[in-house]
Amino acid sequence: MNRGLKQLLPTSRRLLNSRSNAIVSCAVRSARVSRFEQQRLFTQSVIRPISFKGIFGGKPANEEKKLILEQDNLFHVLSKSPLPEMRDRAAIINKYGVCPVCDTHHTEQEHKKKPVYDCPDCGYPTHCNEEHYHQGKEAHKETCAILREINEDDHDLRSGRPMREFEFPTAQGFDEAVNMANWDVLFYTRSFPSMDSDRSMRHVSKLLTYPLTIASVLHQASPYKYGEQVTAEGMRSIAALRTILYPHNQVTNDASSQIRTDTINVYLVGARAEATLPSHIWLQLAYLFPATPFHVHFIGPDALAPNQEPHTKSVNERLSFTYDNAMYHDYHEKIAKFDPFTDLFFMFSPGIGHEGARNSWKPSIEKALETKCPIFITGYDEADMKNDIEAVEQDYQGEFDWVMKPSVNEFRSLKRDVNMLDLRQSIFANYGIWAIRGKRYDVTHDPESNE
Ligand SMILES: [Zn+2]
Ligand SMILES: [Zn+2]
Repeated sequence: MNRGLKQLLPTSRRLLNSRSNAIVSCAVRSARVSRFEQQRLFTQSVIRPISFKGIFGGKPANEEKKLILEQDNLFHVLSKSPLPEMRDRAAIINKYGVCPVCDTHHTEQEHKKKPVYDCPDCGYPTHCNEEHYHQGKEAHKETCAILREINEDDHDLRSGRPMREFEFPTAQGFDEAVNMANWDVLFYTRSFPSMDSDRSMRHVSKLLTYPLTIASVLHQASPYKYGEQVTAEGMRSIAALRTILYPHNQVTNDASSQIRTDTINVYLVGARAEATLPSHIWLQLAYLFPATPFHVHFIGPDALAPNQEPHTKSVNERLSFTYDNAMYHDYHEKIAKFDPFTDLFFMFSPGIGHEGARNSWKPSIEKALETKCPIFITGYDEADMKNDIEAVEQDYQGEFDWVMKPSVNEFRSLKRDVNMLDLRQSIFANYGIWAIRGKRYDVTHDPESNE
């Protein structure tokens, strides 16, 4: 199942050549890049990568991959790396980054010099010159350790070694007990082969965070419990979905393999990179619920490459995908009916609270709230979650109930993504999770009747 793993982050060459680069360069060139704008760029270019394509694209099967780097040779100064993508990354940082010592001591842009001095310990271009490197060395210590790990991880990912950790288990038996407390026990109880190092877990969790975050809220062995993270209203929503996912009453031992429940629809609103994950990554969601077919809807302007038409495809009888680049509120009108027993929403790091995005999210969130189906939302750190939550509390006051209180996501990416515009910032994709649902009014209650 190793499909020629080439690159994990759509950084380097893609960022240099693609539309992301256009975004980065035009905004960064203008001297007045606001803090918000930087954050947006960071989000778009790094945290919410447009695409994971290229990870599994690889070369044709007949072209044998050569081992480029041995396991004891994974650390390289980026600008001198044997891998062109890593040298490109250094070039991007040289061009768009900032020296943290200059940044701390000056407010005017013209005094903030570019990082062109390579730190010998992490291999990243961190400071403008050797003097500032020594001056900022103590403050750089923590970042340095993080960058060193990313350096070795990314060289490992492109080293040409067989990536056995990406050989995933297939369908799960009806009686197989899965523990979903966290990545460790999931990998163990689902018998993932070769998940024997922290590095392997970082590589794999970066991709599996999307399907497994969804699975973790639906699964009966969910790490999120009623009365802790899940509210009473939330438990009603989740219990409704579980009546479909776990049709215990109909199951008899012999017929169990024949059971097919209703299809669960997962609407991924504002889908980006998750829409480019290969189907075998998404199959891990379906495998955890042996009785239930899943239909994943990737909706939003970045859900498709610009030259692609909206379409639906079936991976097998258990999993199908719809890709549509419409705004969610337009797509919503195409769906005949929403049902809280079979439908749920997920928004991965939507940035609802970001100044520039807040208003454009409104029609879509209003439509999603109308359905009364649960809406799960992730954020890449505490501040990102807080920002989105504040916006939701202000803009939809009285229109929603809490389903799940903001919590650390057990199935977050374990691999850090670093902001190439400012190496001091790094995040974990899907770090936290929370959920809401459109408020249900008691339909039997008629205020008119009291008068
Ligand atoms: Zn400097
Ligand atoms: Zn360093």
